[in-house]
Amino acid sequence: MSRIRTQVCIVGGGPSGLLLGQILHRAGIDTRILERRPRAHVLSRIRAGVLEGGTVDMLRRAGVGDRLAREGFVHTGTRVASRDRAFRIDFAESAGKPVTVYGQTEVTQDLYDARDASDAAPVIHGVEGVTIHGADTDVPHVTYDAGGTAHRIDCDWVVGCDGFHGVSRRTIPEAVRTEVERVYPFGWLGVLSETPPVDHELIYANSPRGFALASMRNENLSRYYVQAPVTDRAEDWPDDRFWDELRRRLPADAAETLVTGPSIEKSLAPLRSFICEPMRWGRLCLVGDAAHIVPPTGAKGLNLAVSDVHYLSEGLIAACGGEAEGMDRYSDRALARVWKAVRYSWWFTTLMHRYPDDTAFHQKMQEAEIAYLDGSPAARTVFAENYVGLPF
Ligand SMILES: Cc1cc2nc3c(=O)[nH]c(=O)nc-3n(C[C@H](O)[C@H](O)[C@H](O)COP(=O)(O)OP(=O)(O)OC[C@H]3O[C@@H](n4cnc5c(N)ncnc54)[C@H](O)[C@@H]3O)c2cc1C
Repeated sequence: MSRIRTQVCIVGGGPSGLLLGQILHRAGIDTRILERRPRAHVLSRIRAGVLEGGTVDMLRRAGVGDRLAREGFVHTGTRVASRDRAFRIDFAESAGKPVTVYGQTEVTQDLYDARDASDAAPVIHGVEGVTIHGADTDVPHVTYDAGGTAHRIDCDWVVGCDGFHGVSRRTIPEAVRTEVERVYPFGWLGVLSETPPVDHELIYANSPRGFALASMRNENLSRYYVQAPVTDRAEDWPDDRFWDELRRRLPADAAETLVTGPSIEKSLAPLRSFICEPMRWGRLCLVGDAAHIVPPTGAKGLNLAVSDVHYLSEGLIAACGGEAEGMDRYSDRALARVWKAVRYSWWFTTLMHRYPDDTAFHQKMQEAEIAYLDGSPAARTVFAENYVGLPF
């Protein structure tokens, strides 16, 4: 068995693992990042696209903000629509800051490029059987197989950045962790197409036929979603059927100008709210999707992963300098922000989607709440300050 030592062993080379590795490396802390999948696979996962201001600041401070500043699209508002109403919420007016549209694939690419350009140890891909040992002691270690050889990494801290299906959360004994979950009775069918976006900003549409979202990645790359039964498969939705359904759900002016084309990616994602507490057990910490999942309606998943990295990197940098208090507070600090984003994502999901047991009353309540959002500066402020991201 090969055996090495590092200060922080990070399980998972998605956005949170890579960002944590980048920040720690710049602080002079040695890390190893273990990733199950090949790099090309990680870089091709089409997921988040809306970055809060705090996320953009974090990426810039981590030295990966140049391309984002050049190629990201600053959005100062979004449109919200219901059956007979479509209006814009101005983030600058209501919350004093914008969001930036820049795909998760680009964020991940920038982070891989930064690691390549540094003298940090390269991400170790293709690991199997990752197992975390001694997390409740001061001398944890991680074992795994790669290339037919068994490996062991001794470390001071293990950080689980391995997403919802990873091994880290399950390492925390069931008696210690509490998991809270809501599984929504629908999914999002997403299509990526090389067509100009229907609007220069996002459109969130509440329709009697179900929710729709018009989003984008750049001037010639659109990302659209429709609410669909979670039991459907992407193959059940040929492109023509998807475009027809989207048109019926968007506001009329957008439906008329929608440019369609062949989908270059199509997938159906289930929606859930999930939170694991605490986010630290001994020398093991959880970050991002490993600890919590939100439905994508509020565009919070990636942003929450970044705010976890913010709190954890502060704690780890202090701990590696001999000051343990930051690590003692990590879980509480991160969870305080997580719960607020969970609430907002749940609220916005509930407001915009059709549920199987909905009655005419539910639809009317949604329309009344959307009308209130339209008419009340106070309601728009509440929406906007959550959408652009609560402070760290
Ligand atoms: C379909 C979809 C759409 C989304 N849309 C949005 C959106 O619009 N806005 C938004 O903000 N968020 C969105 N999200 C959420 C967002 O993508 C996630 O919150 C974000 O990817 C979290 O990053 P992470 O690094 O914590 O986890 P992940 O991105 O899941 O990365 C975890 C990594 O760990 C690796 N791994 C797993 N198990 C192991 C193991 N045992 N050993 C080693 N490596 C392992 C995985 O291969 C993966 O690379 C979406 C998610 C999905 C699935």
